[in-house]
Amino acid sequence: MATIAFIGLGNMGGPMAHNLAAAGHRVQAFDLSEQALAHAVEEGCVQAASAVDAVREAEFVISMLPAGVHVESLYVSGAEPLLDAIDPRALIIDCSTIEAEVAKRVAKTAADRGLDFIDAPVSGGVGGAQAGTLSFMVGASDEQFGRARPVLEKMGKNIFHAGDHGAGQIAKACNNMMLAILMTGTCEALNMGVKNGLDPAVLSEIMKQSSGGNWALNVYNPWPGVMESAPASRDYEGGFQTNLMFKDLGLAMELSQQSASPIPMGSAARALFSLHKAKGNGALDFSSVLNLYREE
Ligand code: NAD
Repeated sequence: MATIAFIGLGNMGGPMAHNLAAAGHRVQAFDLSEQALAHAVEEGCVQAASAVDAVREAEFVISMLPAGVHVESLYVSGAEPLLDAIDPRALIIDCSTIEAEVAKRVAKTAADRGLDFIDAPVSGGVGGAQAGTLSFMVGASDEQFGRARPVLEKMGKNIFHAGDHGAGQIAKACNNMMLAILMTGTCEALNMGVKNGLDPAVLSEIMKQSSGGNWALNVYNPWPGVMESAPASRDYEGGFQTNLMFKDLGLAMELSQQSASPIPMGSAARALFSLHKAKGNGALDFSSVLNLYREE
């Protein structure tokens, strides 16, 4: 069993760290939030006093932070850069969703100092993190991918090698742009059906079994009460924040700009999430974008 540092114990990182501890690993956990850290300790992790303390003697360092600015600060530019403290034999696995360019830059800085840093963003939501069924999209060399795989398998079901450094983040940006399009499209269709007299649960079931079926309908229905386990049925608390979806659509915009790839549907979805966030809904789960369509 390995010693693993885990930094960032939020909606996703918390259950991921728990699954590693449940598999018998020693998980040295740290989060700026005392509440998140206390919860991780209840779930079998060992409390670290700081990020630097967490990486002591760690064979793997895993981070699950909100955005690229947090990742770059943690490893490179902050007050106590972790690249100064990590054992060169360790493998650093960043699971946060960040800019491919930042992932490549941190990987290059790490490599220049004899350290291995790979990007491994995830898909599957909080439910997937809890169940240990996440999909990982990994940007790494073949050798690094081989080393990461046994650890990732304790947190996920599908482990994909997308390509070299940064490739995991490119795959993730494409996937989440698709998710944003599917979620807003699903909200649009459900609202139209309900306004025309249909029961949202019946319409959801019809579309699920028909050509409109998609992930949002299968596991993340945005209409309150249709799916017990979905954030919509608990006032859109927890889950995947609108703020984070808005950030991810920004990553897709950047990629489209750099590669001159047209993304009219992704741009429309981004406009909707931007409006939803501006109305004060940033902290709610992203499926609450349904409320843009519903009458007050
Ligand atoms: P979250 O806000 O719930 O958790 C982030 C955690 O990081 C917080 O607990 C915060 O205190 C901690 N943190 C921030 N800076 C830190 C630092 N310097 N040191 C230690 N801890 C620090 O976010 P989340 O929903 O868990 O998402 C994390 C990442 O996973 C994001 O990049 C997100 O886009 C991605 N993601 C989220 C989901 C989802 O469904 N929530 C799904 C796939 C991917």
